[in-house]
Amino acid sequence: MEVVIYPGPALRRGGKKVETFDAELARIAGEMLEVMYRSHGVGLAAPQVGLDLALFVLNPTGERDDRSQEMVLVNPEIVGRKGQEFGEEGCLSFPRLYAEVERNKRITVTYQDLQGQPQELRCEGFLARIVQHELDHLRGVLFVDRLSSVEKLRVRSRLQEMERASEGAKA
Ligand SMILES: [Zn+2]
Repeated sequence: MEVVIYPGPALRRGGKKVETFDAELARIAGEMLEVMYRSHGVGLAAPQVGLDLALFVLNPTGERDDRSQEMVLVNPEIVGRKGQEFGEEGCLSFPRLYAEVERNKRITVTYQDLQGQPQELRCEGFLARIVQHELDHLRGVLFVDRLSSVEKLRVRSRLQEMERASEGAKA
C-alpha cells in the first residue's frame, strides 16, 4: 500500500459506498493507519492509496503511541455544519505543500464503524477540519480545489512542478 501522489488519477475517482463489513475491510483500515503514521499524517482516505472505497482513517495527534484518538469512518456524511474559519492544511498526496483553506468550524458527521454500526460524531476545530478534508477525498475533491484565487496563484508553480514530475515518471 502506497500513497498516491498528485496528479495520480485515483485521487479524482473518489470512493464508493462500502457494503461489506468483514475482516478484509478491517485489514485495509489497519494498513491505512500504518501508512498514515509512517508518513507523519493525521488522516488518510482510501482513494489516496488507490482504493475506491468510502472510508478514511484519522488521528489528530498523528502519534502511533496515542491510539485513543484514532478513528475509522466508513460511508461518512456531513449532516450539520456551523461557522466558517480558515486554517492551514497539507495532504499526504501533496508533499511539502501547505495552504490556507476555509472550512466549517463545527460539523456533525454520520458514518459506520468497521462493524457496520451507525455512529455520529460532533466535532470542531482541527478534528472537524481533518474530517472535511478526508471526506472531500471520497468525492474526488482535493484541498487545492478549495483555495482562494490568491492562494491558488501562490501554489501554482509547486503544482506544475508535481505535474511535470509525474510526466517525467511516465516517460
Ligand atoms: Zn488529503
